[in-house]
Amino acid sequence: MKIKKEKTAKTSLAYTAKNGYEKISPATRKHSDQINRLYMDFLAKGKTEREAHDEAIALLEAAGFKNMAANEKSGARLRPGDKVYRSCEGKTLMAVTIGKRPLADGMHIVGGHTDAPRIDIKQNPLYENSGLALLDTHYYGGIKKYQWVTIPLALHGVFVKPDGKKVKVCIGENPADPVFCITDLLPHLGADQGKKTLSEGIEGENLDAIVGSAPVAEKDRKEKFKYNVLKLLHERYGVKEEDFLSAELELVPANPPREAGLDRSMVLGYGQDDRVCAYTALKALLDVPGTPEYTSVVLLCDKEEIGSVGSTGMAANFFENSAAELLNLTTDKYSELTLKRAMANSWMLSADVNALFDPLYPAVSEKKNTAVMNHGVCVTKYCGSRGKSGSSDASAEFIAHIRRIFDRGGVTWQTGELGKVDQGGGGTIAYLMARYGMKVIDCGVGLLSMHAPMELAGKLDIYMAYKGYLAFLKDGRK
Ligand code: MN
Ligand code: MN
Repeated sequence: MKIKKEKTAKTSLAYTAKNGYEKISPATRKHSDQINRLYMDFLAKGKTEREAHDEAIALLEAAGFKNMAANEKSGARLRPGDKVYRSCEGKTLMAVTIGKRPLADGMHIVGGHTDAPRIDIKQNPLYENSGLALLDTHYYGGIKKYQWVTIPLALHGVFVKPDGKKVKVCIGENPADPVFCITDLLPHLGADQGKKTLSEGIEGENLDAIVGSAPVAEKDRKEKFKYNVLKLLHERYGVKEEDFLSAELELVPANPPREAGLDRSMVLGYGQDDRVCAYTALKALLDVPGTPEYTSVVLLCDKEEIGSVGSTGMAANFFENSAAELLNLTTDKYSELTLKRAMANSWMLSADVNALFDPLYPAVSEKKNTAVMNHGVCVTKYCGSRGKSGSSDASAEFIAHIRRIFDRGGVTWQTGELGKVDQGGGGTIAYLMARYGMKVIDCGVGLLSMHAPMELAGKLDIYMAYKGYLAFLKDGRK
C-alpha cells in the first residue's frame, strides 16, 4: 500500500506560538472582556496586600466561602464541595474547595502574590523643611527609583492603636482627594545628576513625599507645616504623630487602571505583578464547577517581592499548617505521614508574571524563548540566573501534564524565559513548594514595564491565565 502523504505535514510538524486574537471567536472575546473588566475592578480596589486580601475575601464570601477558623474551633468536618478560606494576619490568604478525593491524593494549587513594589512610609516619617511638610520613606521591592518621582501618589494603609483599634487609610483614589508626590530636579539644574547612572540619579533617601505646604494658624506653634499635617490627619483619622510607630502606610500610584491601545487590547495599571495572576486564580477557583476531583487551592501570598520572608511570606509555614488543618478536618485520623503525602502528591501552578518581549529592548531577550504580548498565558519551566542558579526547574513529565490540561481546556499558552541566559534573572515561590516534592511550575501573565508604577498586560493573556488556572484546578489527572 502506498503511504498517503499527510497534506498538512509541513505545518503540523512545526511549532510556533500564535497571537491568541487571531483565532478568538466573538463569544470568547466577549467573555475575555468581561473577565478583564472584573480584573480591572479588583486591581483598582486592591492596591496593597491588605486591600487585595480583603477584596478577595469579599468575593469569596459572596460566592459562599466560609472562614475555616470556625471549623478549626468547633471541629466541624469539611466534606467534598465545601468552600473555605484561611487568612494569615490579614495579608496572606488561602481559599479552598474540598475535592472528591482524600487530601492525601494531593491538591491542585494555584499560588500567586498580592504584594507589589511600592514606597513604604518610615516609622518616624514626618518632618518639615523650607516651608514644606514631607514623609520620609523606604521603598519596598525591586524598583527603578527614577520612575517613582513626579507622579501622583496615593497613601494607603493602616494605623493600629495600642488598644488594637485599626484605622484604615486611603487618600488619593477618590477624584476629590488630594494626592502626594516626590520631586525631581529640573533639567536646568540637572547637569551633575545627569552624569550619574540611572540607579544613582535618584537616591533612596531622596524618595520623600511632599504632603503639605501650608502652616498651621497657631502663633506660638513650632514646626507649623508639620503640625498642620498632624492636625489634618487627626481630624480625618483621629491619629497622633506617635501612631506612625505602629502603622503600615504605603505610597502607591494614584488612580485606577485603564484600558490601553486604540483597540483596548491591553490593561495599564499599578501592581499587576502579581495581582493579575492573583485575581485570575481567584476567579478560576470561584468558577470551578461542582465538586472538583482534587481539592482546589488558591494561595494569595504576601512578601514575594522581598523574598517571601516573614510570617506572611511563602517561606513561612502558613500553607503547611493550613494543609494540616485541612487534613485534620477531612480525615478521621490525622497523621504527619498523611500530610507529607498530601503535599508530595500535590500539583501547583506558581502563578507569577513573566517579562514580555519588548521591541524597544530586544537585546535583553532571546526572541524564540521570550513570551510575546497576547500569545497566551506564559509557562516558565525554569527561572534562575546564569546556569539556572536558584531555579526550580519543572520536569518534562509535569509539563506534559500541563500541555494535556491546557490543550484540552482550549487554553492559548506559550513558553517564556526571563531574558537572555547571562542577562540577569529572577525567581518566585515555586522552589519553596517544590521542597515538599510537589510538582510545580511557573505559569502566569507576561508584562511590559514590570515593577514600574504602571505595568502593561495583554487582555488575551489575562483571560488565558484565568482559563488555564480553571482548567488546572478542575482537572482530574486522567
Ligand atoms: Mn511577581
Ligand atoms: Mn515582582
